[in-house]
Amino acid sequence: NIVLPEDVIYLLDTLNKNGYEAYIVGGCVRDSILGRQPQDWDITTSALPEETKSLFPHTFDTGIQHGTITVVRNKVNYEITTYRLDGEYHDGRHPDAVQFTPDLKEDLLRRDFTMNAIAYHPKEGFQDPFSGREDIARELIRGVGVPAKRFQEDALRMLRCVRFAAQLGFAVEEETRTAMAENAALIEKISAERIHEELDKLWRSPYPEKLPLLLESGLLPHIDHLWAEQMGRLGEGLIPQLKAAPNTSACRWTLVLQNYREAEAKAFCKKLKFDNSTMKEIVLYLRHFHEETPQTAYGVRKLAGTLGEDITRRLFRMQAILHDKTAAQKAENLLDQVLAAGDCLNLKGLAVNGEELMAAGIPKGKHLGAVLNALLEDVLREPAHNEKNYLLQEAQKRKDEV
Ligand code: ATP
Ligand code: MG
Repeated sequence: NIVLPEDVIYLLDTLNKNGYEAYIVGGCVRDSILGRQPQDWDITTSALPEETKSLFPHTFDTGIQHGTITVVRNKVNYEITTYRLDGEYHDGRHPDAVQFTPDLKEDLLRRDFTMNAIAYHPKEGFQDPFSGREDIARELIRGVGVPAKRFQEDALRMLRCVRFAAQLGFAVEEETRTAMAENAALIEKISAERIHEELDKLWRSPYPEKLPLLLESGLLPHIDHLWAEQMGRLGEGLIPQLKAAPNTSACRWTLVLQNYREAEAKAFCKKLKFDNSTMKEIVLYLRHFHEETPQTAYGVRKLAGTLGEDITRRLFRMQAILHDKTAAQKAENLLDQVLAAGDCLNLKGLAVNGEELMAAGIPKGKHLGAVLNALLEDVLREPAHNEKNYLLQEAQKRKDEV
């Protein structure tokens, strides 16, 4: 039995009292059976969207064209979707039309995998026409009905399949796996954003051991040919690397792009519609990832001053994967020390600024920049030198040198 949050029971009761069927369905049922905390609780109902709307005071129509009403209760959003069948798919992406149905079984039939096609109601128990619970017990991902047909309807399901395998540690049932290999080319119809989103979840999953499933799926060459070759070369060597890396998008993507030059990585990120800040972070890691980890306070200050505290720390953890773990640990300890000491790391932290130097007679322009950088270099090596009078004197001395 599944223990439901009180608000979910209230939503089901309200629909039932008004004469409608209602069940929790999909990911929340699957996760509850697995003893995992569901991310959100989705409800499927015989009530039409307008009927659902009329029963609750606070709703949104965000997914109404698919039959989904969002109900807000105690600041939590719940998606309540009318039982529906998906009409014919002609483009391998979107059903031509959404059609409502009074039959729960038809709604379950449109779902992707047996483990995602289970409904549950506290009084009615499980509605599980495709034996999803048996597959969950066997740790198997199986397409509902004829897997090849389901992948032809919506090619994104192939990537979802691999992603769920890596999230749950499940195997993929044989016919489903074959269907994936045979229909892999259809992934070309799926938008870059959705491919990006699934791959992102995949890298950040707890079972990178499932990587061979992706490598053997045949999907990669249809996402990006050059990258597929790189991935083939990295092969299963990526598995321990993914496990060891910080669990952020930028770190995990850096690993799968580790042999790319900066420009190639940028082009790939643009193609797969990365946001700018993630793309920039990946490029920074690629720039420094293969370098030796700094082993002096000076080297650590310099890096932290350019990359910022957080990226520097993650860079060290990334470098630990390729190089020496002890060296990476030492670098991180040094980083803690320079941060705790409040050492100056870049021009912003310098005890004099450009205006003060100009007031002291250093000419504006190129010259000023060179003096500032020389002072910073001095302070990076010796933090005690970050003192206004000392720096102004130094500036005078260097005035003619630079
Ligand atoms: P997650 O933990 O990633 O949210 P989930 O199973 O809840 O997993 P969602 O994308 O939130 O996945 O979708 C909710 C449910 O809708 C799924 O469990 C499945 O029943 C159905 N579903 C989602 N996407 C598809 C799809 N592309 N094809 C068929 N059914 C789908
Ligand atoms: Mg979900």
